[in-house]
Amino acid sequence: MKVNKIDHIGIAVKNAKERLKLYENFLGLKVEHIEDLPERGLRVYFINIGETRFELLEPLNENSEISGFLAKKGEGIHHIAVNVRGIEEAVELAKSQGFQPLSEEPKLGAGGTKVLFLHPKTTGGILLELVEGEHK
Ligand code: ZN
Repeated sequence: MKVNKIDHIGIAVKNAKERLKLYENFLGLKVEHIEDLPERGLRVYFINIGETRFELLEPLNENSEISGFLAKKGEGIHHIAVNVRGIEEAVELAKSQGFQPLSEEPKLGAGGTKVLFLHPKTTGGILLELVEGEHK
């Protein structure tokens, strides 16, 4: 597996419209794309910034993937994603080094990418996402 760059920073928001005041109005960035991931209960806002981007994660319902996070920790940085090549090797590699993957194989992520998360308990508090592929 080879790491290329920071792919994105995932930020949990309760109401994206409210938070876009910061990203669009203040920072002058643009929402490039909005994608609904109903099976994960998420609406994702992609905001490009240079080579990387912010990914605002807004819950579509109370059972969304980030509802627990929002209830426990409130809004804020949810995960950091690094872009990699060779994600298929990541599960075994992580396990062999004591990092716990959240799934037994990479899952389909936004924009047709493949993603794998590592449990924050094993990474020093960071929910680390590995992403293979580019959006769009
Ligand atoms: Zn992400």
